[in-house]
Amino acid sequence: MKVETKFALIKENIELACKRANRQPNDVTVIAVTKYVSNERAMEALNAGIVHFGENRDDGLTSKWEVLGDRPVWHFIGTLQTRKVKNIIDKVTYIHSLDRLSLATEIQKRAKTHIKCFVQVNVSGEDSKHGINPENVIPFIHELSSYSNIQIVGLMTMAPNTNDEAILRNCFRRLREKKEEIKRLNLEYAPCNELSMGMSNDYMIAIEEGATFVRIGTALVGE
Ligand SMILES: *Cc1c(COP(=O)(O)O)cnc(C)c1O
Repeated sequence: MKVETKFALIKENIELACKRANRQPNDVTVIAVTKYVSNERAMEALNAGIVHFGENRDDGLTSKWEVLGDRPVWHFIGTLQTRKVKNIIDKVTYIHSLDRLSLATEIQKRAKTHIKCFVQVNVSGEDSKHGINPENVIPFIHELSSYSNIQIVGLMTMAPNTNDEAILRNCFRRLREKKEEIKRLNLEYAPCNELSMGMSNDYMIAIEEGATFVRIGTALVGE
């Protein structure tokens, strides 16, 4: 199916989810996750009017960058090894996977401008998931106060791999509550207005629970 067709379907679903939650569709940004697809397919997504693109590996990002350049807004969404920061830092506007101080230090050192970062939170507590435990998120953010190149725009999570709607909803809700808690701290460097949550299988639930960025691969550009 053409990306254009899939994008139209997703936009309809976003409108429905927003209606249910009394939200505005414009407050939800779709990130096309292109990690599974060819450069040609990514180009098709750009031509379909998608602006935000996400990759989870430095080499994947570099390869797509060679074709699409700075026309998209680039998001780095995957686990980021400290030594790979230099390969992506001049290409991305957003990093969704800030989860440790050593990574923050490297971003601070390499960035030539503000990088918008999401702190990745392991809400579900599964060992297999990266991210900071919810109770450690605020202490971690306090430690970032002197990192002038890092702006904490929000929180990100990966939900458990399940179809159980109650579990997914609970995970997203807990991330939203943590985000609100941080917002109330009124830290200039951590406005924390955004929630990066929801993928192909659960983006509608995530939007009902407050997602402002959804990261969609399979359902938008294909596997
Ligand atoms: C691959 C990936 C996605 C997209 O997953 P789909 O299920 O294909 O939509 C979203 N977020 C992250 C961090 C990913 O690695």
